[in-house]
Amino acid sequence: MESKAIRAKFLEFFNSKSHKIVPSAPIVVQNDPTLMFTNAGMNQFKDYFLGNKTPEANRVADTQKCLRVSGKHNDLEEVGLDTYHHTMFEMLGNWSFGDYFKKEAIEWAWEFLTEVCGLPADRMYATVFEGDPSDGLKADEEARGYWKSIIPEERILNGNKKDNFWEMGDTGPCGPCSEIHIDLRSDEEVQKVNGRELVNQDHPLVVEIWNLVFMQFNRQADGSLKNLPQQHVDTGMGFERLAMAVQGKQSNYDTDVFQPLIQMVAKRAGVTYGKDEKIDIAIRVIADHIRAISFTIADGQLPGNAKAGYVIRRILRRAVRYGYTFLNFKEPFLTDLVSLLADQFKEVFPELDAQRAFVAKVVREEEVSFLRTLDKGLKRFEGIKAEMDGKVIDGQKAFELYDTYGFPLDLTSLIARENGLSVDESAFQQEMEKQKARSKSAAQQSTGDWIVVHEADTSEFLGYEQLQATSKITRYREVKQKNKSFFQIVLDQTPFYAESGGQVGDTGVLETADEKVVIFDTKKENDLIVHYAKALPKNLEATFEAKVNATRRKLTENNHSATHLLHAALREVLGDHVQQKGSLVNDEVLRFDFSHFAKVTDEEIAQVEAIVNRKIRENIALGEKRNVPIAEAQEMGAMALFGEKYGEFVRVITFDPEYSVELCGGTHVPATGQIGLLKIVSESSVAAGVRRVEAITADKAEAYVQGQLNLLAELKELLKNPNDPKKAVASLLDERNQLQKQLEELNLQQGSALKKELLDAAQEINGVRLITQEVKLPDANVLKQLSFELKNEVSNVLVVLAANLNEKPMLSVIMDESLVKAHGLNAGEMVRAMAKEIQGGGGGQPFYATAGGKNVAGLAAALQVGKQLIGEKLNTEIK
Ligand code: ATP
Ligand code: MG
Repeated sequence: MESKAIRAKFLEFFNSKSHKIVPSAPIVVQNDPTLMFTNAGMNQFKDYFLGNKTPEANRVADTQKCLRVSGKHNDLEEVGLDTYHHTMFEMLGNWSFGDYFKKEAIEWAWEFLTEVCGLPADRMYATVFEGDPSDGLKADEEARGYWKSIIPEERILNGNKKDNFWEMGDTGPCGPCSEIHIDLRSDEEVQKVNGRELVNQDHPLVVEIWNLVFMQFNRQADGSLKNLPQQHVDTGMGFERLAMAVQGKQSNYDTDVFQPLIQMVAKRAGVTYGKDEKIDIAIRVIADHIRAISFTIADGQLPGNAKAGYVIRRILRRAVRYGYTFLNFKEPFLTDLVSLLADQFKEVFPELDAQRAFVAKVVREEEVSFLRTLDKGLKRFEGIKAEMDGKVIDGQKAFELYDTYGFPLDLTSLIARENGLSVDESAFQQEMEKQKARSKSAAQQSTGDWIVVHEADTSEFLGYEQLQATSKITRYREVKQKNKSFFQIVLDQTPFYAESGGQVGDTGVLETADEKVVIFDTKKENDLIVHYAKALPKNLEATFEAKVNATRRKLTENNHSATHLLHAALREVLGDHVQQKGSLVNDEVLRFDFSHFAKVTDEEIAQVEAIVNRKIRENIALGEKRNVPIAEAQEMGAMALFGEKYGEFVRVITFDPEYSVELCGGTHVPATGQIGLLKIVSESSVAAGVRRVEAITADKAEAYVQGQLNLLAELKELLKNPNDPKKAVASLLDERNQLQKQLEELNLQQGSALKKELLDAAQEINGVRLITQEVKLPDANVLKQLSFELKNEVSNVLVVLAANLNEKPMLSVIMDESLVKAHGLNAGEMVRAMAKEIQGGGGGQPFYATAGGKNVAGLAAALQVGKQLIGEKLNTEIK
């Protein structure tokens, strides 16, 4: 069976059991402080388990893109070395939200594996939770009972908390689970060792394929367990492992999921897969990592220096280095795999297909930049190795590799391991902390558990219609930061918009007759609307008037609606490849990031502005439709943003169905006229293939234009109000250039005339050609030039000039170096003595020194001092 068919069969099977088939959520998680990437199928349903939200259906099934490279579930170190852990993989899952429980979950899993997939019943094992006294949990006899009616008892094994109690993260929904393992060894091997012995022993051919989790608890921040409001089923089956079992392979990489990639990499490297373990590992790593990289970028996460962006960069650099070292790839190669992957997954995950050029470009740029330092970094690694005494690379050196050569720590550790070494990782982290402390201290914060005031199923958002509502607090908690703390408050209903889709959260107040609590921000946590307050109201049970800051909201709406108009205009002017890559909308400005490979020219900017402003003047009324089935929204021409999680029903915002149709949860102007005016104020690049424009609207845009006009008016006035200011400035500049030239010429002439004069006046004393003179010169440069010219052109010369530079006195003494020794003359000493006469000071070297001062009238006296000093050295009186 082809893998495509296996996936289809799974979804068909659960559809036939009344499950609704839903799309995968994006790999990049938004609005969840506990999770960066989707690591299991259940993530997107977390709110259903927690009871924060009512599911659209009680039974759901899907295939979910997962990434396990950080946090609680991190398989990165296994990937490529073993044959069944990936960074990115698909998790097939079926869910019951408060509907069926253990019995059906177990029976259907068995039916699917044996009857639909035809896997051998006698090669499969089930595990059940044995209980855990520290959590006060008993063994899962219920699950054991259901298994007993299906398989012989000897194939049912007990599992401990580590294997049979599933948790998404440090907190959140969790519960006992029952896993299905399969033994893929040959009959011969099975004869020798009973498969039972190998379950959960990391044997590559006795692997877990499916985990049936029975969600019953919510793990609290303090480590305790609380019962969930209802009981749920959450199952997850590794699609690639299932394919291995069904296709009778011994490695996930031998299935048709990976073979096309593997063959392409092998061909490109000029090697055959399956001949040399080191080369095979490198090929597997690359085939694995390119999937993680491509799908994550397609879901909107660009490689970067922090957080999720850095995770992607790390994976990419790992892949590049495997190719470089083991497959001799010295040029970008990952980028060429993107197309193959896009073709392969066109039907299941169309987001990659739709953005293949963009993803390939981002990957290429990253590869090019890392390849630039990789070679030097590897040489540095060799150097470090040669200098070492023991077996542990110290943290500073590892940090140098990170900081100077872009080696992520895990890459350095990996290369160290290949060389039989290790890295002092805690010392590395210390270096990292030091650097962070140097840039800025990371804000540490700890979040307490929710304290329930009123039980409520949902927290309803009323802010599309109203800016004020009567609300009650349902729960709150405290967030502690370094020196201060603040509170997060949830209301039963609220007009406050929570930050999302780029639009900032509302601010405002919670009011009763005798108190007012300021809300300084509103954010989402999963689907919960969380209000941020510096303090809690005294009476938590009170009924509040929740009031949004209306002015700020209105300005923000101007910018949000303008962003939609801008998006459409950019597509019109630049082309359909323009995809939103990020946006920020607040009451001051709008920022829009989008895929485009070239700088947007001034002309294009002007066109875009013109289109948007025309649409503003058309005063197009807002078209808002809620609860539109997603398919219908797409028919309306709505641009789905990749990387966004959409439910089955979406909200569609339209400004002229022919012009702008977008899926959007934000708040908008009633009609475009309110925006007044849009002005783009900057255009720049944020990353490979991503441009950013910033724009302002309404009063701000008007003030900006007015500011420019004022500036123009002032300039005109300075120019004495010419008819054509442009021409006036051009001719002014022209005139200036001409004058500059003339001035330089004159200075030269004056200089050479003066030089001749000075030479004529030179006196010969004891073999020294002495020039002492008071002169008038335009500036210090001319004085210096004149001094050096005289020194260079005349032998044994000593020049003392007392210059009047536009009524500023300046002294210069210069002499042939030989005179310093021969006569003990010192220019520095001389100017210092002379400078007193002009109320100034200066200095320099023995052969050349200058001094400035305040008193022009003292120049003659200064010159006299100079002459006297020279006379002393040359034993003669100088006139
Ligand atoms: P394992 O012990 O093999 O790492 P797990 O206990 O971490 O698996 P679960 O968290 O229960 O796995 O995930 C459900 C299913 O997803 C597993 O039964 C397995 O088939 C699959 N799976 C888990 N991690 C990976 C991975 N890194 N790559 C591919 N498939 C995986
Ligand atoms: Mg695991």
